[in-house]
Parts: sequence; C-alpha cells; structure tokens
Amino acid sequence: MFKFVPWSAASAPGSTTPGLNVREVSDSVQEKVPGAIIVEGKACTPKGALHVNVYVLAPDKKPLMPTTPRRARVWLKQKQARIVNRTPFTIQLRSEPSSRYAQHVRVGVDTGSKTVGVAAVAHSKVLYQAEISLRTEIRQSMDHRRQYRRERRNRHTRYRPVRFNNRKRSSDWLAPSLRSKADSTVRAVVQVAAILPVKQVRVEVASFDTQQMQAPEISGIEYQQGELAGYHVREYLLAKWGRKCAYCGRAGLPLEVEHIVPRIRGGTHRVSNLTLACKTCNQSKGKRTAEEFGYPEVQARALKPLRDAVHVSIIKTWVIGTLPSLLDQVPISTTYGYETKYKRLKRLELPKTHYFDAVAIACELGETVVPGKVWYQYRCVARGRYQLYNGSRSEHKVSGPKKVCGWKLFELVKVNGHVGYISGRRVSGRFSVKDAVTGKLLVDGIGHKKLVRLARAAHGSIVHMNVVQ
Ligand SMILES: [Zn+2]
Repeated sequence: MFKFVPWSAASAPGSTTPGLNVREVSDSVQEKVPGAIIVEGKACTPKGALHVNVYVLAPDKKPLMPTTPRRARVWLKQKQARIVNRTPFTIQLRSEPSSRYAQHVRVGVDTGSKTVGVAAVAHSKVLYQAEISLRTEIRQSMDHRRQYRRERRNRHTRYRPVRFNNRKRSSDWLAPSLRSKADSTVRAVVQVAAILPVKQVRVEVASFDTQQMQAPEISGIEYQQGELAGYHVREYLLAKWGRKCAYCGRAGLPLEVEHIVPRIRGGTHRVSNLTLACKTCNQSKGKRTAEEFGYPEVQARALKPLRDAVHVSIIKTWVIGTLPSLLDQVPISTTYGYETKYKRLKRLELPKTHYFDAVAIACELGETVVPGKVWYQYRCVARGRYQLYNGSRSEHKVSGPKKVCGWKLFELVKVNGHVGYISGRRVSGRFSVKDAVTGKLLVDGIGHKKLVRLARAAHGSIVHMNVVQ
C-alpha cells in the first residue's frame, strides 16, 4: 500500500517518494533514512516546495508532458501511476491518459570537451536542464594499460594465443577518448527524449558561421547592422586574432573591437577594418592607423579573410550524424555560439553555465523563458574495472567482490558535507571518495561507516539534483 509519510517516519526504502515530498526537512533526518535516494535538503525550503517537474510516461513508455508534484502525488496515491525513476523523478501511468497532447518541446545541446549542457524548453518554460561531466581520464588509463601490456611481453607469462586478425578499424572509428565523449553527449539527448516529448533538437556547432562571415569580409556588409551582428563579428574577430590584443599580443584581458583605420580618418565598419585591442593599446593608438602606430603587419593581416578557421569538432559531427537515427522524426538543427551568447546575455539575462547556455540554444531568437529552479548533474563514470588478471605472471584471475562492506564502486555519497562518488574500495573497509563535480579526490582511507548513500550509478553515470543558485 502506497502511503505518504513524512521523512522522519520513513522506515523502509521505497516507501516514500523523496522527489515529491518537498516539505521542510532537516538534513540530519534525511541522512538517517537507509538506502533512500535523498532530495538535497536545499530543495526543501522552509518556505515551501520548489517547483520540481515530475516527468510522466504513458503505459507504452512514450513520454508525456511533465506534471506537478501535487498531481503526481495524487496519481500515485490512487495507484494510477508507478515510479520508474527517482532522479529525475519520473512516473508511468497505469492506464491510457485521456489525451496525449504535447507542447512543442525543444532541446538545446551545448557540446563541450569536458562538460555538456542539455536543456528542454516549451511554452516559455524550462522543463529540464542538466549538465553532464564527461570522462577525461580515458587517454590516461589506456596509456597505463599499454604500459602494463608492454611489461608483460617481457616477462615469462602464461601462453596466450596470438591475436592479429581482429585489428581492423571500421570507417567510423573514433579515438576512445573522443568516442566516450561523443557517446555520452548523444546519450544525454536520448535521456531527455525518454522523459519528454521532444519535437526538435538544436546543437551548437561552432562559435560563428564561417560562410556567413566570409561573405561580408568580401562584399563589405558592415558589422553594426543590428545587435546580433555585433556579437557575430566579435566571435569572428576573437577567432581571427587568436583571442589576443593585435598590438601587444597579451591575452586574458578584456579586448575591444578596434578600427584599424580610425572612423575619424574615414575608416569603415567593415570586418576587414576591424581588429581586437586591449584598452591601453587602443587608447595609445588614438587617431593613428595601424601602420602609423608601427604595426603594418596588422593592417595586412586584417585584409585576409579567415578561411575555414573553425572546423566542426569531431564530437559535434558525430553527435549530429548519430542523433537522427536514434530520435525518429525529430528534426536536428544547428546554431552558432554568438547567437547563444546574445540570447543568454541580452534576452534571458542568465549567468554563464553550461545548462543556461543550453537553455539559450533551445530558445528562439527573442524568446524569453522562466528558468528552472533545479538542474540535474550527471557525472559519467566507468562501468567497472577491466583488469582481468594479476600476479607476477598474470596468472591470477581477478575476482574482486562486487560489493565491499555493502558498497559498490561509483555510488554517490555524502561525506564531510561534500557530495562525491566512491572511486576506490579496500577490503579493510577504507574507501576513497572523489568529488562529484570536479572528479578530484575528496578523502582517502575513510571508513565506510562515515558515508551516506545518495544514489547508485546507473547506465554509466551518476545523477544528482541541484538547486539553481
Ligand atoms: Zn594591447
């Protein structure tokens, strides 16, 4: 019998719906619930519940529009629905809904080499926003593996049959480190499509549109045609001048768009008359041209348009190529970074995070949305340890236990006030925990009794719900 009990009265795991029970809860009470997947205390503010979307699936697992915690609670109580996932909180209806009406849900993807942002927007509301930390240690661990293998070749080890006929690379082969990142990015989008009726996906491919930008350099369209064009030119100039001051070459300081032949001397707003300079250089140059200022090479370089400077990265190509086959009949479109930046800063007025970038990507130009109050944080982790043999002659088959003192690898835990995941376990019961956000070592050799379980790893990642600050 499903019963809604307050946190303090929760006895067995699964008897409450933590994602829904967003009433006032103190941290200490939450931590005592054994095995429960805890909604972070911050999500339960004393003033009331934060609006957390509850994702709804039809009986055939097709996603419907999300609902409110209140309605979900009623459905669960009346046994009209069952829980399928706790983070993000997802329920499945037991009988066919009266209507399958769905809004035009658009998904924005901010790809990156370390972090991916994903957001879903519909009807001026953010329905879902998440950040995915990708695995960055694959190259390193493969180097380790190669070293071990080389060592083994020089030792007297047991006989292994030769393997030489299985080394052919398929045409769509990607380096393992990139493959992992590309796959995780694709998976992040598929995950959204599993809980929301996605109608459109938009991926940011580069910071500016090379072709559109080359045309004005040649044909001479001026850059101050509209606010958005200014953003476009700026991104273009950043790439063209290598994010440095064209005169002193310093990087990492605010750069200004600078006219090589000053306006006052008849210089135009054309891109071929523009460069980037720091404030000091810009002021000391004054009314002089770059040549008079002592930099004829800047003047010469400005005239050459940037050709194919920004390649669409391998990961992005993979993502755009793979998504159509996985998301049936969902159009995949592309956008550029300058548009994202403009929308995020000027229309949405949101700070720089990967998930807000994704929100900006999902939005139409000029659209404003209500940002979500929570965001989901995924951290991609290995699915296991792959060492098969150990011993000086590689003679022992590794048969490590799945659980040590009841804990698995990569479980999400709370330790010393931080959220981390278990990265190493010793049979003695001493564990090491790494930070869930940065992947840095939090504590080493901590007793397993000091850990508080938050969630278990599933499908190669751990999830954590955060409150937007
Ligand atoms: Zn300078």
